[in-house]
Amino acid sequence: MPAGSGNVSELFVSFQGEGVHAGRRQLFVRLGGCPLRCRYCDEPESLVPVAECRILGPDGTRRRANPLTPAALDAEVSALAGAAPPLHALAVTGGEPLAQADFLASWLALRSGSLPVLLETAGVLPARLGRVLPWIAIVSFDVKCPSNTGERARWDEHEACFRTATAAGCEVYVKMPVDEGTAPEEVERGARLVAEAAPGAPLFLTPLTEPTTPRLTIGAERLERLHAVASRVHPDARVLPQLHKVLGIQ
Ligand code: SF4
Repeated sequence: MPAGSGNVSELFVSFQGEGVHAGRRQLFVRLGGCPLRCRYCDEPESLVPVAECRILGPDGTRRRANPLTPAALDAEVSALAGAAPPLHALAVTGGEPLAQADFLASWLALRSGSLPVLLETAGVLPARLGRVLPWIAIVSFDVKCPSNTGERARWDEHEACFRTATAAGCEVYVKMPVDEGTAPEEVERGARLVAEAAPGAPLFLTPLTEPTTPRLTIGAERLERLHAVASRVHPDARVLPQLHKVLGIQ
């Protein structure tokens, strides 16, 4: 990949499906590649760099070869934003967008337009997070519980990310994906970590779904129990299903 260029998986407009801003219309910039392999991942096609960027515009779908320069990405985003007002924010998502932190910073530094930027990140790459925060208004973090990701615990990385974004003055909220097998002690540890390292940030327990249907992989009883566990140590723990799954949209 030429220096300074990046791998972009998709550009599209949709309703935000998770967290504080669920239901708001946003322009999504999905970057390709992720260092994690969560068992429940619903974006398997974005785990590795892709050959083409899919652009879903008002006139249908177009494809553009990767990599994209920051200026090329800016032009595509500006065109899409101009064709699809009103928008609440640009949602930068993945994959893991911070896997391409240098490209992301280059694009954000030259970006035209004034939409606030919402960064959706797993919160496991704190040093890279610091490089892009000057251009970020809102950060949506995950807490990754090893009992449902199948990955190793990332408590230290999460804590560093939460503290960095909070200190930078960003709006912060945190999602914790949960299913029937999620360990209550991990929910408690993650909820306490959010309360301590990102004071004021709401915590959303996100019930996971089957890969191809909106059917939840956690029952109401278990969900209530996990919420009670989180609420003992976090003052603003909520439960919110993924709106885009319910609506059957992207
Ligand atoms: S961090 Fe997100 S994109 Fe990466 S594997 Fe986990 S769920 Fe998938």
